[in-house]
Amino acid sequence: MNAELRKSSYKPLNENWEHDHCAFCWDKFSEKPEDLNSGYCTKDKKHWICEECFNDFKEMFHFTEIYEESIASYKF
Ligand SMILES: [Zn+2]
Repeated sequence: MNAELRKSSYKPLNENWEHDHCAFCWDKFSEKPEDLNSGYCTKDKKHWICEECFNDFKEMFHFTEIYEESIASYKF
């Protein structure tokens, strides 16, 4: 796996889908304060990884972090 991940605030894919889970530890992402509100997501927003797992697995899986500069044109 060679993934480009972008750090961002969690946004549900659509209004019928209000949460996601970390691909590794299954921590919950949602817009609720008790859940994770930001993390790393793939370009298609289908997969979310929490900050902790990103740091644990980035070397093993060769994650590439995409920084804010490229985020501006990306539409949710
Ligand atoms: Zn995790």
